[in-house]
Amino acid sequence: MQLIRDIHAAKRAEGRPLVSFEFFTPKTAEAEQALFAKALPALARLRPDFCSVTYGAGGSTRDKTLSMVDRIQREHRLPAMAHLTCVGSTREQISELLAEARTRGIHNILALRGDPPAGTSGFSPVAGGVRFAHELVTLTRELGGFCVGVAGFPEGHVECKEGKAVDWQRLKAKIDCGADFVITQLFFDNAFYYEFRDYLTGRLGVTVPLIPGIIPILSTGQIKKFTSLCGATLPSALVGRLEALGDDEAAVTQFGIDFASQQCAELLRQGAPGVHFYTLNRSSATGRILQNLGLASPS
Ligand SMILES: Cc1cc2nc3c(=O)[nH]c(=O)nc-3n(C[C@H](O)[C@H](O)[C@H](O)COP(=O)(O)OP(=O)(O)OC[C@H]3O[C@@H](n4cnc5c(N)ncnc54)[C@H](O)[C@@H]3O)c2cc1C
Repeated sequence: MQLIRDIHAAKRAEGRPLVSFEFFTPKTAEAEQALFAKALPALARLRPDFCSVTYGAGGSTRDKTLSMVDRIQREHRLPAMAHLTCVGSTREQISELLAEARTRGIHNILALRGDPPAGTSGFSPVAGGVRFAHELVTLTRELGGFCVGVAGFPEGHVECKEGKAVDWQRLKAKIDCGADFVITQLFFDNAFYYEFRDYLTGRLGVTVPLIPGIIPILSTGQIKKFTSLCGATLPSALVGRLEALGDDEAAVTQFGIDFASQQCAELLRQGAPGVHFYTLNRSSATGRILQNLGLASPS
């Protein structure tokens, strides 16, 4: 399967944005079956440039992540990327997992630290494990044959008390260790992305693609929960508009589609290399945003 850095280079040469879809590993067999029966085929028909599959909290889905990525590549002939975290694994176990990925034809990896397990304070690696994502980038690169992406935080990472500029310098360190591209945390005010991009490219000389991560709002309660967990700002004007829609879920979803469509259109006009959608394992909102952007090309 193609490497994301090569796909990006080809899209850039054509003057077209990169489009990707993220799926999370479902908790139950029924939810996984529903994903592969409905949302995934519907989104695969839009021919994204690649898909990605998360690695469950606490390293709980190592086998499921690889098998979902494998299935997407085989059944839908789409390049897919496995997320991988440092949580709960030794260097040896990480190397084994990467060897297994390579055997299955998985060559795109999103190298992450991962979040500390719920109820614990602060991240601590297992004995023989790694503490920061940049070490995982190095390890993956040393094994060879992988294209590696990393996470970036337009508002700074929630745990980085030294401020966002320090967090962005640490992101630069991940790139210096061999990361080929960055996918950002979700955000709702594009000014955060522009400041982040300008700092990285202008001040730090970063040249790899900085791909904005966009989430379609499907529910007011859910988006308040997500943003409070990851530390992203939910602008007060946006909260006001969502609260005015009350419990009308259809109206909230429509608002979320319109909001994300405008947000993506502006990002692409302002030179973002593409858009990575947090699909929440649902197809219709992401599909309609792509249609609004004129980027849906059903096969
Ligand atoms: C696109 C995307 C996809 C994600 N997918 C998943 C997933 O599938 N599974 C999952 O569990 N989580 C996922 N996450 C969440 C991610 O694991 C968490 O946000 C995690 O807390 C940070 O991961 P990181 O890779 O940015 O870590 P790091 O880059 O290691 O940074 C973590 C913290 O350590 C600090 N730091 C970094 N280097 C140093 C250093 N040398 N010295 C001191 N401090 C340092 C940073 O400033 C930051 O505060 C995803 C996030 C994004 C944006």
